[in-house]
Order: sequence, then structure tokens, then C-alpha cells
Amino acid sequence: MSSIQNFIDEKIKLPSPPAIALKILDAVRRDDESLDELAEIIKTDPALTARILKLANSSLYRLPGSVDTLAQATILIGTQALKNIALSFVIIEGFQGAPQGSFNFDLFWRRAVCAAVAAEVLAENTGLKDRDIFVSSLLQDIGVLTLFLADMTSFTEVVDGKRISGKSTCEAEKEKFGFDHAEVGCHLLTTWKLPPAICQSILWHHAGEPAEPYRKTALILGLADKISSMYHGTQCNRKSIEVHQSLNALYGIEHERIDDIIDKIGVKSLEIMEYFSIPPGNMKPFSVIMQEANEELGRLNYSYEQIVLELTQAKQNAERLAIELKRSNDKLRELALRDGLTSLYNHRYFYEVLETQIQNSKRYGHPLSLMILDIDHFKKVNDTYGHPVGDLVLRETSKTLVKLVRRSDIVARYGGEEFAIILPETGLASARVLAQRLRRGVEQQTVQYDDKLISVTISIGLVSSDMNDAEIMRESFIFKSDHALYKAKSNGRNRVEV
Ligand code: GH3
Ligand code: MG
Ligand code: MG
Repeated sequence: MSSIQNFIDEKIKLPSPPAIALKILDAVRRDDESLDELAEIIKTDPALTARILKLANSSLYRLPGSVDTLAQATILIGTQALKNIALSFVIIEGFQGAPQGSFNFDLFWRRAVCAAVAAEVLAENTGLKDRDIFVSSLLQDIGVLTLFLADMTSFTEVVDGKRISGKSTCEAEKEKFGFDHAEVGCHLLTTWKLPPAICQSILWHHAGEPAEPYRKTALILGLADKISSMYHGTQCNRKSIEVHQSLNALYGIEHERIDDIIDKIGVKSLEIMEYFSIPPGNMKPFSVIMQEANEELGRLNYSYEQIVLELTQAKQNAERLAIELKRSNDKLRELALRDGLTSLYNHRYFYEVLETQIQNSKRYGHPLSLMILDIDHFKKVNDTYGHPVGDLVLRETSKTLVKLVRRSDIVARYGGEEFAIILPETGLASARVLAQRLRRGVEQQTVQYDDKLISVTISIGLVSSDMNDAEIMRESFIFKSDHALYKAKSNGRNRVEV
């Protein structure tokens, strides 16, 4: 006994074979006289006899006349085939008394009979000579049943785990038990003393590349199982494609004929199930199954298009939201940079921009000018007309300044009634001209309040990078323009000092 067989024996308890099955097997092994002996054994079970005769007369064997006795059946079908039929019946019957639990025995045997019929039909269509193919296919998954009966909890875990992980049945079984149902099935039937050919082809029925000399039978078993699960499982379309590909590639069967074969298998299975007293459930003809599968595919395609549409819309929405978010962010950023009263840039921003402009001017060798402006005697405006009017004057003055500078100049509110203007790429000469323009502009501006017209003047301190060769620094630049402003104030106000 191989180590895997020892291992299986250690882990699970194998069911014992039905008594009559042992007798049948025993009889067939003793070759010559076995013909009569087999018939004798079967005769002891009238129900079994009746079933065998029904099956012998079924479309499965397509015998010329009607078969009325076991003796006729043995001659026409052959001892081996008869033995196989008998075995199939007694084994299925033996398992029918087993505890049901969560396992659907009817479905299991329905699938098994369908797979058995499929194997028989496929063998016929592929020229495979294997007298045992019906039983081999019928019992190919008996390991599943064995695993269930041995350990229902672990078995349920395998089924559930398989559903979640998407692993193959064999993989999931190996993970849980250390072996799969093909190995268990082979071992069980070997223990029951079924012929090695049956046991071995069952061992290989899930293998992609079955070993010789069981290769052909194992391949047919795999295909038969697939066809059966088209009738009794899900994903009919995928399986149909796989069956078509295999039958066409391996045996050169035309696709149209493959559909016929699959259809014939369905019809025959329904007939044979009856002899095995297996309820047909809602087994449908192949054409109906394929129609339903195609409808399902249509629905899937439809929902796929729906999903694509929804995704596109969601993407568009996300893009729109992103644009809105960017706008809001820009706005927020802008707000954070602006002074609330005048909407000019605030002191913090001015400070940052001045630094960048100084760096740029150094890097590219461009001149840079800075003005600091202060409204003259502004206190008086507040004192005379009140603080709100002072605010109004500050706003109007800001507008005048913005109107008179170039787009690239940066006007900021430096503090109370003080402003700062950064003039990128502007040397002393142009800055001086601009300063005078601003001074005049403010001087000419009038702010109307009630029936009064208010005018103010400004003093401007100007500094330019081209005034001396020394390296310009932000603090000293501000300091120098501040100093110039102080000079403008002390020199009489409403004037520009450099
Ligand atoms: P000088 O010509 O020397 O600059 O005289 P000044 O009166 O303009 O200067 P001073 O620094 O003495 O007064 C500035 C005034 O500006 C005092 C302060 O109340 C006023 N002020 C500062 N910020 C605001 C403001 O936001 N709104 C108003 N209405 N007044 C302000
Ligand atoms: Mg002032
Ligand atoms: Mg001041």
C-alpha cells in the first residue's frame, strides 16, 4: 500500500462495499464460469435484475431486439458490461441509505449518471475501447462522497472555502485533507477490489496530463464530467467552449456534431436516471440550457455596459469636482493672500514675492525696484470724517494705484495707510517715472463723501537694484525704501525720494 493510501486510511474511515458488489466482483474475477455465476448472483435480487434488463434495453446499448432474460443480456452485452451495470446499481443503492446532511445525494448521483452516460457516448464517438468506461465515469467522483461521509465538517469547509478562494476542488481538498477526491476514490475502489483500470483512470481524471495507459480514459472522464456539470451546474457557456475546444482539437469532431453529442447525452441521461431511481430534478435539454446561458451572457454584457457608463459618469463627476476643488482652493489661497479692506496683496504675500523677485533679478540680471508709499496726514482724514471715511479713502487710493501700475507690478498693503509696490524688471529711471505718475494720480483723485470731496496725497520712497553694485537683500531693500520714504516726508510730503 502506498504512503498516500496509508495516509488516507489514517485520516478517514472508508465505507465498506455493498455485500452484493463484492460477490459480483468476485464472480467476474473467476473468469470462465463467471458468466453463469454472475447471472446467478444478480438473480438473487429481483429488483436488480429488473433494472439491469431495463438498462440493457435502453438506448445506451442499442441492442437489435428486446432483451428479456439475464442470460440473453450476458450474451448480448457481455459479462464485463453486465458486471459494470450491476456494480453501478448496487454501489449507488448502497450509498442511498447514507446520512443526508448538507449533501445533495440526488444531485450527486444525477451528475454521476449523466457523466457515466456522457463517457459512454464520448467513447463511442472517439473510438475509445474501454468496457469499464460507464462505471469509471459513474464512480469518478465517489471520493467526494467518501470525504463527505468521513468528515462532514471539513468537507463543508472545503466547499465554502473553495467558493471564497476560487480554488479548484482538488486544490481545496488537498489543502484541507492532504489529498483530493480523485486519490480517495482510487483508494476506495482499490480497497473494494475493483479493476485497476477503473481505479487508475479515476485517479487521473482531474490531471491535465494523465499518465499512460489511462490517459485516454482519464481525458474522456474529465470531458464527461464537464458535460455533466453543464447540465447540473453553472457557467454553462464557459464549459461548453472548453468541451468544444477539447473534442475538436483532440478528436477532430466538428462543432455541429459536438452540440448533437451533448444534446444526445442529456436525453439519454434522463432515460438512464429513471432506471437508477434517481429523480431527474430540473434537468433541461441542452438547447434550453444554452439559450438560458446566452440570455445570462446578454444580461452580463448589458450590465457590463451599464457599469462602463456609470464609471465614465463617475469619472466625469470626479473630474468636475476636482476642477471645482481646485477653483475653491485657488480662491482660498487668493483670499489668504489678500487684504480684507483693500483687496490688495497683504504684507505676508508681499514679503514672499519680494524674496522671489530678488532671487529672479539676481539670477537673470534684471533690475528690480521697490516703492513704499504712505498717505500724508491720513490721521486728519480719520479725525475729520471718521474712520469709515478713512477706510473709503484707503480703498479708493488702492484702486488708483492698481489702475496706474503695469500688470506685472505687485501692489500690496504694507500696513495701516502704507503701501508697497514691487516693480519687477524695472530700473531706477522707469521706476521714478512711475512713482511720479502714482503721486500725481493720487493727488488728482477725489473721494466723494456726502457733499464733500476729499483729496489726499502720498509720499513715496523708492529703491532700485541698479542704484549700486552691492548685493541686494530683502531686509536692506525694504530698509532703504523706508528710509527714502522718511526723507520724502521730512522734505515736505507729496513727493518721491530715492
Ligand atoms: P504722515 O503724513 O506723517 O504719514 O501722517 P499720518 O497721519 O498719515 O500718519 P500716522 O502714522 O500719524 O497716522 C496713520 C493713521 O492711519 C493712524 C491710523 O488710525 C490710521 N489708520 C491705519 N490703518 C487704518 C485703517 O485701516 N483704516 C482707517 N480708517 N485708518 C487707519
Ligand atoms: Mg501717513
Ligand atoms: Mg504712517
